[in-house]
Amino acid sequence: MPLQEKMQKVRGWIQSAQRVVALTGAGISAESGVPTFRDAQTGLWARYKPEDLATEAAFRHDPQRVWDWYAWRRELVANVSPNAAHHALAEFGRQHPGRLTLVTQNVDGLHQQAGSEDVLALHGNIRQDRWLRPCPRERFSERDCEPATATEGRPPKCDVCGNQLRPAVVWFGEALPEISLFRADEAAGNCDLMLVIGTSGLVYPAAGLADVARRAGARVVIINTGPTELDDLADCGIRCKAAECLPELLLGETRMGVTAEEGV
Ligand code: NAD
Repeated sequence: MPLQEKMQKVRGWIQSAQRVVALTGAGISAESGVPTFRDAQTGLWARYKPEDLATEAAFRHDPQRVWDWYAWRRELVANVSPNAAHHALAEFGRQHPGRLTLVTQNVDGLHQQAGSEDVLALHGNIRQDRWLRPCPRERFSERDCEPATATEGRPPKCDVCGNQLRPAVVWFGEALPEISLFRADEAAGNCDLMLVIGTSGLVYPAAGLADVARRAGARVVIINTGPTELDDLADCGIRCKAAECLPELLLGETRMGVTAEEGV
């Protein structure tokens, strides 16, 4: 089916859906200039796999190296802006209060910067830090070190107990934030339509949300520039840059380039 026909079909599905879930991944931020994990495998950090850096074991083994990798990614994120895809989702949310649940695997904070509210950020936020472990001075309570006790360094440490700051992201092997995951799962199980945007569908449990939606009878639409692991369960696949097709799909705004390609 030609891409423009698919666009019209999916636009109709979006207009008629009572509850829409958008599940986004690194691809939605690619046009803002944030590298996906695959893109990040060039240059300075090419010899490291994210899986070898984004773990607590890697941090404990070499805190400075991991901190420096995050400093490099944080600098990238600090110098980019939300693109048309982030803005289209934010505008759709504003125009249709209560209809959209936005679930992201991204840690770049660009959905929030675009004005989306109540974003379920399953993998945390790279712009924030948290303590590596509960404060040992408070052995019998849950209280952490006070942020004010952090002293400069790579990574900064508590000047009293030596606890280290770490990026507030979910590393490989760590549990996702319980409440956000619960709400994302609930939204997936109760939606009419799920838009899976710019994710390879390789990272679980986030990728499993598409199956939750499918099993609950929702339509699943994949928007991606390439093939994904979730293509088999999709009702429709739109092979296109997110920033080119989301303004048209969500808001009816026509963008250049969308009509020229074939869909998957
Ligand atoms: P991924 O790198 O595995 O996949 C990115 C996907 O985006 C690919 O399928 C690719 O074909 C597609 N894509 C690339 N450009 C696109 C565009 N312009 N429009 C639409 N699709 C496009 O990323 P993932 O699936 O999100 O999962 C891997 C992990 O990467 C996640 O845990 C996430 O936290 C982390 N990550 C996040 C960021 C970020 O916050 N921006 C960046 C890198 C990695």
